[in-house]
Amino acid sequence: MVVGKPIFTVEQIQQRVRELAEMISKDYEGKNLLAVGILRGAFMFLSDLVRAIKVPLTVDFVIAASYMKEATTGEVKVYYDVREDVNDKDVLLIEDIVDTGITLNHIRERMLQKRPRSLKICAFLDKKERRVVDVPLDYTGFEIPNEFVVGYGLDYDNRYRNLPYIAVFRKSV
Ligand code: 5GP
Repeated sequence: MVVGKPIFTVEQIQQRVRELAEMISKDYEGKNLLAVGILRGAFMFLSDLVRAIKVPLTVDFVIAASYMKEATTGEVKVYYDVREDVNDKDVLLIEDIVDTGITLNHIRERMLQKRPRSLKICAFLDKKERRVVDVPLDYTGFEIPNEFVVGYGLDYDNRYRNLPYIAVFRKSV
């Protein structure tokens, strides 16, 4: 198993997170922002992002996992859902990576049923070419090709999450 060289370095990530936080701070001025991190993968991105956002906010989480049956059907299981009442909140879902879009679409629909005041999505990485379900992304860190990546919260078998950068991961050389 091989972890390649960083495709996004610590500095590149920090720079992009600052840019995203600036856009979000501007867009959520005077609003009631609730940042909802999708665990486990988004924990690192969320913690960097919320520290750089300059408007008042609250934080909650969703814990979800998806299981692929076939290439285009995934079953999403939610283990923990937001505890905050979202009716008066401007919810920003924060996701680590969007691949087929199945996981995020499921969580988005579930959140919409709770009738938040508004709902937007911020994804750190976007594997656009892999998309099966069209899910609207309002803020994106980086677009990446169809490679399996680890680091900055993203895992292989729950490992490599602590790498401070993003690298391509291959099972064999
Ligand atoms: P989707 O439902 O969009 O197909 O899958 C999203 C989830 O699959 C992500 O939240 C993440 O857990 C996992 N995933 C997709 N691509 C990658 C990748 O390149 N690396 C890692 N570590 N996880 C990925």
